[in-house]
Amino acid sequence: AASPLFANLEGDIGVSFEFFPPKTEKMEAQLWDTFRTLEPLAPRFVSVTYGAGGSTRERTHATVARIASESAVPPAAHLTCVEASRAEIDEVARAYWDAGVRHIVALRGDVPGGGAYRAHPDGFANAVELVAGLKRIAPFDISVAAYPEVHPDADCPQADLDNLKRKLDAGATRAITQFFFSPEAFLRFRDAAAAAGIDAPIVPGILPVSNVSQTRRMADMCGTAIPAWMIALFEGLDDLPAARQLVAATVAAEMCRRLYAGGVRDFHFYTLNRAELSYAICHMLGLRPVAPAKDKAA
Ligand code: FAD
Repeated sequence: AASPLFANLEGDIGVSFEFFPPKTEKMEAQLWDTFRTLEPLAPRFVSVTYGAGGSTRERTHATVARIASESAVPPAAHLTCVEASRAEIDEVARAYWDAGVRHIVALRGDVPGGGAYRAHPDGFANAVELVAGLKRIAPFDISVAAYPEVHPDADCPQADLDNLKRKLDAGATRAITQFFFSPEAFLRFRDAAAAAGIDAPIVPGILPVSNVSQTRRMADMCGTAIPAWMIALFEGLDDLPAARQLVAATVAAEMCRRLYAGGVRDFHFYTLNRAELSYAICHMLGLRPVAPAKDKAA
């Protein structure tokens, strides 16, 4: 029998990679290195996150536009409703369409500094409205967010699922999940979504973790549970970054393998702009580099 670590027996796995827009030239060089390392794995798309505030927005646009012009990999631009009027968001969406970007990850976003969400007086109230608004601009392929462990603002799991269904009914074609560390939680969520009549793909968001204390801050904000076994696994490794990387790859690869066994074939990686962990996990899933598609810049 094949090794249980080698899951891609059918060669049927599809991956996507998420990046954040770089703030400095050095970070830009690192992101581009990361992109070029992961590109031969032929991701279905790569996405670039979006923050509040003018300069962050421009960095997202610049990164997405560069990928669109220099690579054959389709880029997806994240877009949020935060602190923007409908007219401003429409303008950003039109600029993406004009730059050849066909895929938007449509999100409500969060209020900078935390606290209850407040919509811009002339803005979209939530992701459902944003999806509908984008569809009025152009026939974008739209992804939306989903939460296997329930979004902190949702009244109950059913209300969160109803909200996801509204986003898909408004025109989104797939959901990408918040990161999680329990494959069972994801598979239960996927089954509950199917039972609620959701037939769009729900792609698990995989965060390869090599630093639990950093992850804990992110997890607290978005309602993801960090299991006790994971904290225990990283205990005593604070000063051993190489060992932490090995543990991180093992944990994430095991999670992906269990998701594969549960029928999952598409995986979205939160790369944090580093290639090594995501590449290693994809390799363990059986992905191999393919001859690069013709480079647009060449
Ligand atoms: P929504 O789907 O609009 O709703 C969030 C919650 O509010 C849901 O639980 C829903 O049940 C509840 N809700 C919404 N509308 C109603 C209503 N009318 N009545 C009652 N309840 C309602 N953030 C960024 O700032 N930039 C990014 O680039 C980014 N990328 C992300 C990518 C992914 C894959 C994921 C999973 C998250 C991302 N986020 C990003 C975080 C996201 O913006 C936050 O999680 C935010 O709090 C919710 O966004 P949403 O699109 O899920 O919101």
